[in-house]
Amino acid sequence: MNLANGRYGEIDLSSGETQEHDLEEGYARSPTAFLSRIDAAIADAGEDAMAISSGILTGSLVPAAGAGFLRLVRDGSEAESMCPLLGFVGVELKLSGFDFLVISGKASGHGYIWIRDGIIEFVSSPGSASLDSWGRTDLIRSEQGDGRIQVIAAGSWAESQPPSSQLILNYWGGEDKIGCAAEFGSRKLTAIAFRGMGELDLEDSEGHFAASSELYGKHLAGLGENRGLASFSSAAEHEGYSELLHRSIACYGCPFPCRSFYKLFEDASVKERGAQEPGYLVYDVAAVEFLTSLELSPRDVITVLMRCARFGAEPVSVATAASAGGAVDIAAIQNVLESGGAGSSANSTLRRGFADSFEDVSDYATCLALGLCPRYWAKAGMDLEAIGRVSEPALGALINIVD
Ligand code: SF4
Repeated sequence: MNLANGRYGEIDLSSGETQEHDLEEGYARSPTAFLSRIDAAIADAGEDAMAISSGILTGSLVPAAGAGFLRLVRDGSEAESMCPLLGFVGVELKLSGFDFLVISGKASGHGYIWIRDGIIEFVSSPGSASLDSWGRTDLIRSEQGDGRIQVIAAGSWAESQPPSSQLILNYWGGEDKIGCAAEFGSRKLTAIAFRGMGELDLEDSEGHFAASSELYGKHLAGLGENRGLASFSSAAEHEGYSELLHRSIACYGCPFPCRSFYKLFEDASVKERGAQEPGYLVYDVAAVEFLTSLELSPRDVITVLMRCARFGAEPVSVATAASAGGAVDIAAIQNVLESGGAGSSANSTLRRGFADSFEDVSDYATCLALGLCPRYWAKAGMDLEAIGRVSEPALGALINIVD
């Protein structure tokens, strides 16, 4: 199959048993069919199952085609059932040998799922229970001997399973506004780690490259100058952010980065590697805007985001709880974080998360099922005809985007 592995994996955390399943030809003929196939696999695995998945076009040269997603079985809209997985997570997941992975059951002790070269296993890791999300990521990379392993980690907040806990992707938070981390905590799952060393087939690589290059050019002409996070939020235009800005970086295949790295502990102009943890990568627009509205300085906003990431706590929910007693400062935030999160509630205005960029939530689900970043495509304009035209040479068939 082009742009696909043609199989999915399954792991039951209760028994540690793993399985591989072949996928039938044409299972991903449309975003709707693809999501239905994942839902069927989840249903087969049991009532409590969930899935992490790459998208149909993840790893292609369609602009910003690096996304994956985590899919939960929940009542409500697609926005509350799908959490984007950005950066390089979606691509690495697809290159690990599976199009998606279904997870069911609960482990008897803490540990993480480790996927590479078509192999899935549960690695017992009792020592990781006391670590924060950064410690869990470091531990896995050290144990498996590869600093480029992609890690989706829960933090200590997930242990009490509040809806305000948040998954952290390779140290950074922003995607999980729907409490997926609580799902990890309830299973004693500290992280999912994977490394992609596989290859993907394309029907006509040259044709795909030419069509993609043309679309990149059109998008960049329309999007104008890129200013990193400030191109996506006026809150980040404050000069306090400019003084701390080190660089802006993009996820896989994105020509218009929104991820800005701010240095807190050394001069932002220092380009070489200096302090061990010099700052934090910010792309959580909703959190930056909410924390700014509480009159926190840019330095304090970034400090709050970094501390929340370590605890695996959603920053808007944390700040909402901290502000219940009046003015918010770093000390009030830290008190909430150290409470462990038990009983804390999610800020309900956030439930749409990255879907907030779309008027129609079905466009959000389509975007993720295709493996495209919803933030990028909301800004560039969700052009289904162009996506179909550019992806056709890669897939060898015109995808049925609206069925
Ligand atoms: S818009 Fe931002 S989150 Fe989306 S692909 Fe680009 S850099 Fe990543």
